[in-house]
Amino acid sequence: MSAAGRKTILVTGASSGIGEATARRLAQAGHRVFLGARRTERLAALAAELREGGADVAHRALDVTDLASVQEFASAALERFGGIDVLVNNAGVMPLSPVADLRIDEWNQMIDVNLRGVLHGIAAVLPTMRRQGSGHVVNVSSVAGHRVDPTAAVYSATKFAVRAISEGLRQETTDIRVTVVSPGFTHSELTYRGGNHEARQAARSAAEHLAIPASAIAEAIAFAVDQPSTVDVNELVVRPTAQT
Ligand code: NDP
Repeated sequence: MSAAGRKTILVTGASSGIGEATARRLAQAGHRVFLGARRTERLAALAAELREGGADVAHRALDVTDLASVQEFASAALERFGGIDVLVNNAGVMPLSPVADLRIDEWNQMIDVNLRGVLHGIAAVLPTMRRQGSGHVVNVSSVAGHRVDPTAAVYSATKFAVRAISEGLRQETTDIRVTVVSPGFTHSELTYRGGNHEARQAARSAAEHLAIPASAIAEAIAFAVDQPSTVDVNELVVRPTAQT
């Protein structure tokens, strides 16, 4: 890759699943990658592995629900690499349950991570991108950001919101590219935590039968990132062929 094509890319939720695969894909393509998540031992292992392959990678603890943490993450990347070209707002949680279960703590967790976390990421990088006169925000939504299914009302609400925010940001900024990537069932750890037992089991068994590898989503993100600066890929929906 030419020096001009190399970008500094921040990836939230890089400790597993789609974020990890995306970090791997982008680092292997020659980009500088800054990894964030709460499980720092995983980030350290991934960064070490990628550095062994010759990549320029660093990591930092990140909790996207905490604005100060996200701002420190962006500042550290700026200090380390001297600019911020791309933010991949990927961190997310999906504790599924029927609305009538009133699992209010989990509703708030989804709002805090999936929605506030995305806004915190935008807030943390936008001043730098505006100063640079260029930048790219890639927000990970979901097929659930296009349709609502039982047990996924609140999750879907956060993912619809991610698409709304992305479209608004895109319209308001002519110097910053905005991309939404909406995955369908993808192998990851998303169904490992939270939600009610039946909903979690149903999501897991659907994922087991249908899911595509996280690298397929990483490929879509890399496609958007590697377009010329005048080309903004607005949305990519990537799902298993057999998913309805
Ligand atoms: P994983 O559970 O494997 O990854 C989620 C990532 O988010 C982890 O790295 C986790 O890291 C991070 N994360 C969670 N909470 C926080 C937090 N408060 N601060 C920082 N990082 C956090 O699932 P996926 O890879 O599947 O999820 C990635 C994105 O893809 C999510 O936005 C999800 O909604 C979306 N998606 C996934 C689909 C799928 O089928 N897998 C389908 C559609 C969309 P840590 O716990 O270390 O902080």
